[in-house]
This record gives sequence, structure tokens and C-alpha cells, in this order.
Amino acid sequence: MNTRNISLFILGLLAGCTSRSPQPDLPSDRTEQVRFDGTKEADVVWKENRPVEFHAPDGQVVPFRNGEAIFGNQIALVLPNESTGPRVTVFRQPQAINLLLDHFPYIYLKEGTQTVIETDGFKGEPYADPADRTLCWTARTCGNPDCASKTRNQGERPYLFAKIVPRVRLRADGRIDWSAADPALIEASPECPICKRYEFVKVYVPEQVAAQQQALAAELGIVRAARDRAAAKSAP
Ligand SMILES: [Zn+2]
Repeated sequence: MNTRNISLFILGLLAGCTSRSPQPDLPSDRTEQVRFDGTKEADVVWKENRPVEFHAPDGQVVPFRNGEAIFGNQIALVLPNESTGPRVTVFRQPQAINLLLDHFPYIYLKEGTQTVIETDGFKGEPYADPADRTLCWTARTCGNPDCASKTRNQGERPYLFAKIVPRVRLRADGRIDWSAADPALIEASPECPICKRYEFVKVYVPEQVAAQQQALAAELGIVRAARDRAAAKSAP
């Protein structure tokens, strides 16, 4: 499944969640087969129209509490489904999703050479490259449709620039020393070096990364919404 399909799949699930159409008759006691992660299979035992046990692929039997069963990094949730009746779907746990979101590639430009540096998640700004201790600043792009930077795209990447604050230094202890920098320049909004506008400037996120982040954020939304519904139901 590519990221676009994942997004569509999740949007479909979201649509299903809001549906209030009558559901087909299902035996109140039943065993539901659940597929997840492409190849894994699990059984869910339903009693009186409620899922009671999740039989994980490793043989673990996890009870459902408040409509969810947690095993490893996964969470099995009951979601309404117009055509099949309520079904159990397996997601990653919010912590696991947040962990993935924290570790997406983050793009910096190295001061001086403007070399593109990719790190495992955001490392602060500026970030000192451990290889040569050079400061790296968040890579940004300009979204101004009339900006001449469009002609400077490099392959798949748009024209990138950074807001480099002069006289910021890396101290011997590894901390960033801002004391010699002009406070006005620290405060100033990053502006596009070509069109000199700041309203269109945004942090550069590669297209594929943005799509994956969107799909994960949608997955997180489904898990949270299901938990909210379960909490509302169990409230007195
Ligand atoms: Zn511009």
C-alpha cells in the first residue's frame, strides 16, 4: 500500500465512523478474522455483540476493555462499518505513532556551504552537525506563486534557503551561544531571499514525508476518536 492509498483507506475509515446507517444482522456470538500489517492475522471473539478477546498471531489472548485490546505496539479497536457491521481494526498505538512522527527526516542547510543535511527528526535550531560542528539551519521554501525562486528548483527539491542568524556560535560544551547575535535578527520572520516576502515561507518537508505524516496523523485521529467514544459510553 503506498502512502496515497493509506490516506484514502484512512479517510474511508473516518467516513465509516460517522455513518449512522442501519447495520446488517450479525450473530451476536461470533469469531471475526482480522488482517493487519499486510500479512498478519488474528481472531476476535465476540459475545453478545461485543468483542471480548483478541487472539494475537503469537497466541497471546488479550481481553477487550472499553472497546480496545492492546498488544505490543498495536491497538485493536471496534469501528462501525456500514456494509459489514461493526468490525475490529488494528492500528498502531498513539505512542508508537507519535514515535514515528518524531523520527521523520528533517531537512537542514549547513551554514556556509548550504549543503542539505537530513536528520532523524527535528534536532533544534540551529543544529550542530557532529561531523564538523558546523551549524545547520531549518531548510525553508517559498510558496509565493509569483516568486522567481520557482526557476531555481533542483531536481525534485524546490529552491531551499535558511534563516541564518549571524554571530550565533557553537560553544566548546556543545551548547549554542546566542549572546553576540542581534536580537532583532533573532526575532525577525524568515523571509524569501528572492521575493523578500515572509508570508509564503514554510519549513521544507519533502512531499513523500508530508504524505506519510498526514496518513499517520489521520491514524492518530481515528484512534483518539475511538477512545473518546469509548470514554463517553463508559461515563455515568
Ligand atoms: Zn519567494
